[in-house]
Amino acid sequence: MSQYDYLVVGSGLFGAVFAHEAAKAGKKVKVIEKREHIAGNIYTKEVEGIQVHQYGAHIFHTSDKEIWDYINQFAEFNRYTNSPVANYKGDIYNLPFNMNTFNKLWGVVTPAEAQAKIEEQKAVLNGKTPENLEEQAISLVGTDIYQKLIKDYTMKQWGKECTELPAFIIRRLPVRFTYDNNYFNDTYQGIPIGGYTQIVEKMLDHDNIDVEVNVDFFANKEAYMAEFPKIVFTGMIDQFFNYELGELEYRSLRFETETLDMENYQGNAVVNYTDAETPYTRIIEHKHFEFGQQEKTIITKEYSKTWAKGDEPYYPVNNDRNNKLYKAYKNLAAQEDKVIFGGRLGHYRYYDMHQVIAAALQCVKNELG
Ligand code: FAD
Ligand code: UDP
Repeated sequence: MSQYDYLVVGSGLFGAVFAHEAAKAGKKVKVIEKREHIAGNIYTKEVEGIQVHQYGAHIFHTSDKEIWDYINQFAEFNRYTNSPVANYKGDIYNLPFNMNTFNKLWGVVTPAEAQAKIEEQKAVLNGKTPENLEEQAISLVGTDIYQKLIKDYTMKQWGKECTELPAFIIRRLPVRFTYDNNYFNDTYQGIPIGGYTQIVEKMLDHDNIDVEVNVDFFANKEAYMAEFPKIVFTGMIDQFFNYELGELEYRSLRFETETLDMENYQGNAVVNYTDAETPYTRIIEHKHFEFGQQEKTIITKEYSKTWAKGDEPYYPVNNDRNNKLYKAYKNLAAQEDKVIFGGRLGHYRYYDMHQVIAAALQCVKNELG
């Protein structure tokens, strides 16, 4: 029998929170990670004195004080507020959609003028309740913003027409009738000073936890299933079941990172390219997350692509077809009393970090009381 109580597959935020809390409760935990480093998609690495977000921009935000206090145990956060801008064919618009965006686009000055413009444009829907991303977007911000800032960006990001995507994806973004460029509505927000990797390092730094990187669960699934009394699995749920009910759809990304011999490339941490012609969706300039003053700068272009076996599955594609299939996998998972599924891939859900922490803490509670 194993000397461990749990095998945690995946050292991302879900696996790390679970391992940390279980270890604190006196359980022995082994964590395996198939990448060469811990921390999953929140991994950051220091280059030229700049914390580089290796798997895309990560801004922590939550309105839940318990979650905010929880994450602050592991790092101090700066006052960064995400205020991305959109570049549409050389014109710059503020995000999320707010009075600055409406003013630049239509010349309107007051909230009433902006609302009237949106009302006029959403008339094309004839009062229909929005059933997909296109209808939801037009209903929220009208046809002009949909055409310039949403339609092509979304097509690049998801590889599907907005009419084929669920409405909830666009409801992630606030629409505001104030001159406020904060991308999030949450009470708490920031970037950990010194990067995200230290958070996971501290979570896993416990006498009851052993970590092994460069280890793929599927290289030895049968042996792990036999050896460990319980397994927390944070990889792809369909892969766990050898895709026996069919493949879930994911979206993958490709990152192109460059160090530039200049102090300031784009003047903002995040610039979205919302036209169809630019092949990437956004450019991240990492130093601006930390108000960096270094002589050089590091930028990352983010390209979205269809996921194929072997690629990293960054986003679940939560449309009706995939949600239905996930439900069928969830039924299979319920019969695996040894295995707990968790995280963005295990739950096949478009979770942000604060939601992953909340789900992992709930999972610990269910497990350990
Ligand atoms: P992951 O971080 O994916 O961890 C899973 C781990 O399991 C990985 O390390 C993987 O290598 C490992 N693994 C998988 N299969 C196996 C296997 N077979 N054997 C061994 N190991 C395995 N959230 C925010 O709150 N704010 C943001 O600004 C934000 N921006 C984002 C930007 C991008 C581009 C992306 C992709 C996500 C963003 N997120 C953001 C979401 C955030 O990344 C996730 O909520 C969080 O990282 C999920 O943690 P996790 O542990 O569920 O998954
Ligand atoms: N979106 C858009 N234009 C933008 C930014 C976002 O149309 O400039 C849409 C797009 O469909 C995207 C969704 O809003 O997938 C959610 O955006 P968010 O920034 O939350 O995406 P993430 O950071 O998770 O990729």
